[in-house]
Amino acid sequence: MEESLTKKLDFIVIGAGIAGLSCAYHLTKDGYSVMVFEKSDGKDNASYASTAEMNHDPDASWDRIISKFGIRGARYIWKLSEFSAQKLTKFAHRPGSEHFSTKRVPAHIFTYDQKGVTLLKKRFELYKKIGAQVTFTENAKSLHKNFRSSITIKNEGATNNQALLIALRAATHEQGGKVMYKTPVVDLKVNKQGVEVRTKKGNIFHAKHVILATGGIELINLPIKIGRERTFVVSYKKRNMDKLFSSSLLWDTAEPFHYIRSFVGKRLWVGGEDVAEESYTPSSDKRHIAALDKYSREVLALDSSYVLEKKKSWSGVFFPTARGLPYIGDVAGTPIKLALGFGGSGILMSFVSGYLIASWLKKKEMKYKPLFKIW
Ligand SMILES: Cc1cc2nc3c(=O)[nH]c(=O)nc-3n(C[C@H](O)[C@H](O)[C@H](O)COP(=O)(O)OP(=O)(O)OC[C@H]3O[C@@H](n4cnc5c(N)ncnc54)[C@H](O)[C@@H]3O)c2cc1C
Repeated sequence: MEESLTKKLDFIVIGAGIAGLSCAYHLTKDGYSVMVFEKSDGKDNASYASTAEMNHDPDASWDRIISKFGIRGARYIWKLSEFSAQKLTKFAHRPGSEHFSTKRVPAHIFTYDQKGVTLLKKRFELYKKIGAQVTFTENAKSLHKNFRSSITIKNEGATNNQALLIALRAATHEQGGKVMYKTPVVDLKVNKQGVEVRTKKGNIFHAKHVILATGGIELINLPIKIGRERTFVVSYKKRNMDKLFSSSLLWDTAEPFHYIRSFVGKRLWVGGEDVAEESYTPSSDKRHIAALDKYSREVLALDSSYVLEKKKSWSGVFFPTARGLPYIGDVAGTPIKLALGFGGSGILMSFVSGYLIASWLKKKEMKYKPLFKIW
């Protein structure tokens, strides 16, 4: 049930995915009063659907990021992802986070065709420049019979996101914050005192700041449109997973890439087949899932002992941004802040967005703020 509030809050966060809950967790930790509004029951979002690889790469290519923000900017983004992975691991050890876990494993970017080899070599040089711990394997057949070459990144990882969402919500509650589900926000009005937030039920709440953590932008007009893409994942059941699949993360050089990880050693997840939401139709689901299955069987050489779990095949929407980096920070001239637009490095950037906003408020780490600006 919604509660009317006459007291003005420090923050209202809109959206209870990883970004919104991380903002609430970090801000309540710093003593701010915070309330989160989530339109669904919290299980209908990218964070819940995600395969939860702790991938350090944003959506934009590293050469694009280097040409726009220099080596220092690119190195900062890599370091920030690593920092987020470490913070997540620390959070997993916090009392109350028993069901949330992180696993650090090497990631392999592989290619199975000649075009990909040239691309990988170029990427390897870029990874070295930005400070990633990488090795290049020219003949990667020792890793997998269908691979031509690969880059190995020393330490990436995986999480179980659904447990992360529960743990973040519990920690926020413990620190005095509130998370309200089934409470869509339909309007925001900026006034001299801050922001007025209206819910679908017509209740009005007041806060000094509002954080939009809605995945995409629906509530305010901004000069940049965030594209929506739908991505598909299939899962396979297998009692004894191939060593490579159970002990590493994998993705390839296809455009858009396929990503592969195992889940508690008994399931293999393969994702990819991204489509722009405009061209998506529910009736094409089967085609995307069939394409992923074909890919897995051919490229990953999965035999009939890998059983496709039809019910566990799923899709979800994510938001790649115009520049390939997430939008985290201020909406110029308003008390509205953004923590949205995460594609590739979604989990890590979502988790760290809350930390960044909290530390920027304390005037720390201002130097790299322009990286995440929307304009
Ligand atoms: C199938 C799939 C696989 C993925 N795999 C990976 C992966 O392996 N690794 C990785 O790093 N990233 C992955 N991603 C991306 C990653 O999951 C997302 O980038 C990340 O979870 C985004 O978190 P978020 O909190 O910004 O958004 P979301 O989780 O989408 O949360 C936004 C929330 O805002 C709520 N909301 C929206 N509008 C309103 C409103 N008006 N009022 C109230 N609430 C509102 C929504 O209901 C939603 O709950 C994947 C995504 C998908 C879909």
